[in-house]
Amino acid sequence: MFKNLPRVRWVHGPTPLVRADKLSDRFGFDLWVKRDDATGGVEAGNKVRKLEFLIGDAIAQGADTLITCGGIQSNHARATAVLAASLGLKCVLALSVTDTSAPLPCSGNVLIDRMVGAKLRLFDQTQWDRRVDLMHELAREVSASGGRPYVIPGGGSNGLGALGYVEAMREVREQLDAGIAGGEAFDLIVHACGTGGTAAGVALGAGLYGVAPVVRPMAVCDDAAYFHAAIASVIREARELVPALPVPAAVRVDERGKGPAYAVASVEQRRFLVEVARAQGWVLDPVYTGKALYGLAQAAGEDGALAGKRVLFVHTGGLPGLLAQGEELEGVL
Ligand SMILES: *Cc1c(COP(=O)(O)O)cnc(C)c1O
Repeated sequence: MFKNLPRVRWVHGPTPLVRADKLSDRFGFDLWVKRDDATGGVEAGNKVRKLEFLIGDAIAQGADTLITCGGIQSNHARATAVLAASLGLKCVLALSVTDTSAPLPCSGNVLIDRMVGAKLRLFDQTQWDRRVDLMHELAREVSASGGRPYVIPGGGSNGLGALGYVEAMREVREQLDAGIAGGEAFDLIVHACGTGGTAAGVALGAGLYGVAPVVRPMAVCDDAAYFHAAIASVIREARELVPALPVPAAVRVDERGKGPAYAVASVEQRRFLVEVARAQGWVLDPVYTGKALYGLAQAAGEDGALAGKRVLFVHTGGLPGLLAQGEELEGVL
C-alpha cells in the first residue's frame, strides 16, 4: 500500500502472534498477543515500526541529524537514538526531567541513549510544555552549525509514523490467513496508549485489513477525551498522506489502566506485573504494557460483554522502562 513512500526496513517481522493460555483462562476470553516487543534488539518495541517511515523520510530529505523528544526514560527516544547510531545519523534528544540540576540517570533507556552517543538536552516541566517550539529551536542550532536536522514528533506520532501500525495490521492479517490464531478476525484489539499514534495506525490497519472492528487503546496518562481528539487528528493526517486508506475501525479509549500518573504505577498495578510475570512468563513494564494489561484485566472483571471474545493484545515493548524502576518494584517481589 505504501510502495511509493521511502522506508528504512528495520522490523524483524513478522513478529510472533501467540496465545496466552494462562491469562485466557484467568480472564475468561481468548487472549492472543502480537509480540511487538520483538520488533528488534535493543531498539525493539512499537516505535521501530513508526521510525521505518519517519527515518525513511528523513534520509530521503537529506537529513543527517534526528531530533525528537520524550520523558527521561522514553522508549521512543531510545529507539530513535539506536536507529540513528545504526544508520550513521546524529541524534539530539529533548528529554523532560523534574529537576534539571539532578545527576543524569545511568539506567534503563537513558543509559542506552548515552551509550549510543545521542546528545541529550534536559528540560523542566514548564519548558516541556513548549516542546514543539524547543525542538524547532534545536533544529535551528543544528542548521546554524552546518547540519541538516529532521524533527520527529514525540512518540513518532504523526500521520507518517502511524503507517507503521497499518503495516503491523497487514502482518496480522497475513498471519490469520496462514491459519495462525485459528484464522478468524478478532473482536477487539487492546494496547497501551501514550501519544495516540499507535492507536491511529492500529485503527486504520484493523479497518483496512479486517483484523477487528474495535480498538481499545488503554490510556497511560491524560484522559479519554484528550486521546479521542489526538487519535482522530493523526488518523486525519494519515488519510491526507494516503487517501486510499479507508474508514478506520472504531476507537474506544479506556482509562481503567491509567494509574496515579504517567510512569507511576499503583501498588495494585505493580503486584499485577509480578503476577503476570509468574503466571505466564510475560515481563511487562510499569509505564505502558503493564498498565494496559491491568486495564484489560479490570475490564474483564467489570464488563460481561468480553466473555468468550477473541482479544488481540499488542505487546508494545518497554523493557528498559522496567529496568529503570527496580527500586519501585522491590516491595512487591
Ligand atoms: C510509546 C509506547 C506506547 C504508546 O504508543 P503511542 O503511539 O505513543 O500511543 C506503548 N507502549 C510502549 C512500550 C511505548 O514505548
